[in-house]
Amino acid sequence: MSASGVQSAALMGTLVTIEVVGTEPGGEAERDAAISRAMEWFRRVEKTCNRFDPESELRRLSARIGQPVTASPLLFEAVRFAVAVAEETEGAFDPAVGAAMEERGFNRDYRTLQPAGPFAESSGPKTGTFRDVRVDERRKTLTLLKPLVLDLGAVAKGLAIDLAAQELQSLRNFAIDAGGDLYLGGHNARGQPWSVGIRNPRDPGEMIETVEVSDGAVCTSGDYERPAARAEDGHHIIDLRTGGTAKDAASVTVFAPSAMVADGLATAAFVLGPKAGIELLERHGADGLIITPALERFATRGMTDHD
Ligand code: AMP
Ligand code: MG
Repeated sequence: MSASGVQSAALMGTLVTIEVVGTEPGGEAERDAAISRAMEWFRRVEKTCNRFDPESELRRLSARIGQPVTASPLLFEAVRFAVAVAEETEGAFDPAVGAAMEERGFNRDYRTLQPAGPFAESSGPKTGTFRDVRVDERRKTLTLLKPLVLDLGAVAKGLAIDLAAQELQSLRNFAIDAGGDLYLGGHNARGQPWSVGIRNPRDPGEMIETVEVSDGAVCTSGDYERPAARAEDGHHIIDLRTGGTAKDAASVTVFAPSAMVADGLATAAFVLGPKAGIELLERHGADGLIITPALERFATRGMTDHD
């Protein structure tokens, strides 16, 4: 079999690596062009959904309170899905988490380390929740009924992975790795299903379990991923119902056909904790493993299918 093609780039606050196994069907040049097109989706999603860039479509939407705004398919899809997960979890998951993130010091663009510009568009308190976001499926418009700061950090990477995977579909055997959130197409260079390690959240060098995946996504939310600036503020996943950092899980790994679904459900299950989190995954027909801070494991019934 001919050599694999691999490209890496720092995007969306993480290292994105795309590997395509072999060169079929169109040869090396076509393969490498497809990998570059797949990478481009991460740039596009980052540009559209960046909470720190006043020029991003997300921030421009935040400037127009009370007016329906026609959204690009990318922004519409990310917000539509995030609001649906928020409704289902009754606000445990809430894309209006941006103001709370800012308060905890998550207010810097990870690329430039510049503080986010002030939200000149609405300087008052930003108290809105997902209930203040109207999603009009027919007109493809979004309306913010109250000032709020949308944060799509829980779903945007998954959306970019799905779009990149679509770009590579004809190449069949490939791996997209965006900082441990993955989509795995077909098989690896040895002709076997891809093998994914689930880390011990308290010792990330150690694998708790290894799972085989083919044609599917795997996303993990872990409390070790992004600590807040002040230790007492915990980490980057917030339970808006308590106002504190989410504490009932240490990591959640979700397997689903779509990376956006796996990404969003992993964050949502993290906030819900083991019992309600597993129920959420099972309702969606997704599989997953929740590891608590005491390293107890909670798995969906279907988890054994992946072993
Ligand atoms: P992930 O790493 O996919 O679990 O996503 C974590 C990111 O989701 C954080 O960095 C925030 O941008 C965002 N986030 C934090 N808490 C919540 C929440 N309760 N609901 C929705 N998004 C959240
Ligand atoms: Mg997520």
